[in-house]
Amino acid sequence: MNKWQAKRSKDIFEITICTQIAGLLLFLLSIPILIPLYGYSVFLKDHYIYQGLPYYAQLALVLFLLLTIAYLIQKINNKEGKEIRYIQTLIVCILFLFILPLTLKLPPLTPLLLTPVIIAATTWGKRVGILVGSLAGLALLASNFIPFLRHFAAQTFQLDLVNAGVIVLLSWFIGGLSDIEAETRNTLAHLADTDGLTGLYNHRCFQERLRDLLEEAEKNNTPLSLLLLDLDHFKFYNDTQGHQKGDRALAELGELLSRLVPAPYFAARYGGEEFVVVLPGATRQEAQSFGEYLAEKIASHSFEGAHNLPQGRLTASFGLACYPEDGSSAQELVEAADHALYQAKYSRRLHFYFSVVDRFRALSRSERELFNSLKILLALINVRDRYTYGHSERVGDYAAALAQKLGLPPAEVELLRCGAYLHDIGKVEVPFTVLNKPGRLDNGEWEVIKKHPEWGESLIKPLSSFSSLLPLIRHHHENYDGTGYPDGLKGEEIPLFARILRIADSYDAMTTERPYKKARTPLEACRVLQEEAGKAFDPYLVRLFTEVILEREAAGRAKAAP
Ligand code: GH3
Ligand code: MG
Ligand code: MG
Repeated sequence: MNKWQAKRSKDIFEITICTQIAGLLLFLLSIPILIPLYGYSVFLKDHYIYQGLPYYAQLALVLFLLLTIAYLIQKINNKEGKEIRYIQTLIVCILFLFILPLTLKLPPLTPLLLTPVIIAATTWGKRVGILVGSLAGLALLASNFIPFLRHFAAQTFQLDLVNAGVIVLLSWFIGGLSDIEAETRNTLAHLADTDGLTGLYNHRCFQERLRDLLEEAEKNNTPLSLLLLDLDHFKFYNDTQGHQKGDRALAELGELLSRLVPAPYFAARYGGEEFVVVLPGATRQEAQSFGEYLAEKIASHSFEGAHNLPQGRLTASFGLACYPEDGSSAQELVEAADHALYQAKYSRRLHFYFSVVDRFRALSRSERELFNSLKILLALINVRDRYTYGHSERVGDYAAALAQKLGLPPAEVELLRCGAYLHDIGKVEVPFTVLNKPGRLDNGEWEVIKKHPEWGESLIKPLSSFSSLLPLIRHHHENYDGTGYPDGLKGEEIPLFARILRIADSYDAMTTERPYKKARTPLEACRVLQEEAGKAFDPYLVRLFTEVILEREAAGRAKAAP
């Protein structure tokens, strides 16, 4: 509850409790009137001994006072339980029983009937308020027709009719207002705690609940875990699909999380495309397996257009922090989870950089500087050519899979992955308008594009550690039949790595959506590769690659089957 909400609740509580106390006091004021009306006097030899109410009335009054005190104490301690409701109901009933006969004997006291009505309406709202008000009004009217209570008089009846009307009207008004107030308070509380897009708890509410839960965990000496979750490549998803679809994906994820996270665990939107799951009572082991379960569910959910992402689906990275080992305050825990998340992202990325980083250790200082500039250049290509973002990483994966199938040693496979990562670096020199042109390229533009393998080669040349990758970068657009560029090499003259990369590169281009064409299915793409075998591609490698893809597809289907 924020400060503003707390103040509002306090104000409302004060008004209700003061009204109820005032109502009860008004009733107590009427007790001296009750005594001569209902009381009796005991005289002994003309001596006055006792004057008071009958025993049953005294008993009821004492009970009433005790209940009122209990009620007020509970209310002031702000304890809303079942008991307080029962106490309140009893108070209203007893009040009713006392006041009704009083008003019958002394009609000017009729407004006192409003006391139970006000208490009922402010506590339970319009429906109960009107019920109590109507009962009061009806009882008042009915008393006119009960001969031993009163003599029927038309004028008294008319007065009672007006009084009953006023009571019902007020019960409706007060109950209606208190209903509206309760509804507004609930809606505001909901709005203040909920994230509008995802329907999950928002950042503020998460912090508040985490602090409370940590206090509880400390008191009970129980563990608590925190999972921080960040969607991968979400900026790219937004860039290619548009922000509307991005919003829809976030909303879908919110819905997914609220379905998958069972109480007492809860999920919240930390901000942007970052979410948290708080797991009170969960140990590191439990939280880790829950995180893996969530990661699997998110990755297998079909978000619209997610097949264009680098991994072919929308995935999330997770950071885990546990109380008390990783931190004891909310801030420390979030920091630890953030750190773990960063590591998770970085190690995943590292997978693609693997050999690059290995080689990096052997680089001289000047080479390292050059390498850093290369990384910036690669980032630049990703920004400029948004449809090939993630492309190099996927091509690296396909090329590595084919190299493994060929039985190349692991070091070679990693070298190839590294080459795949760098293969399009020459595109940094291709003008932006050509790179992102939606229609067909004219001859002049094609000539520019065809230069990128050579530009790439000259960019990498100064890095002696990468010298073995130069042929791959230069020749990754050569065709098996000699019609490719830049050198028109033929068959086995083309380096093996370049032939592998040519297949992996084309396959990825075919299976991802571009602005000018729809994506093909893996099988369709393999069919095109086979048609082009011997022309653009090495036929033997195409056969092996098709096997790799078919195996992957079969494995994917087996996994998807229940
Ligand atoms: P990484 O894999 O490193 O997490 O990359 P990323 O692109 O997911 O991360 P980055 O932090 O660079 O970008 C986060 C993106 O999330 C930027 C912004 O476009 C998007 N995003 C944040 N909030 C919203 C939102 O409310 N709606 C939409 N549609 N996009 C959002
Ligand atoms: Mg982020
Ligand atoms: Mg992200």
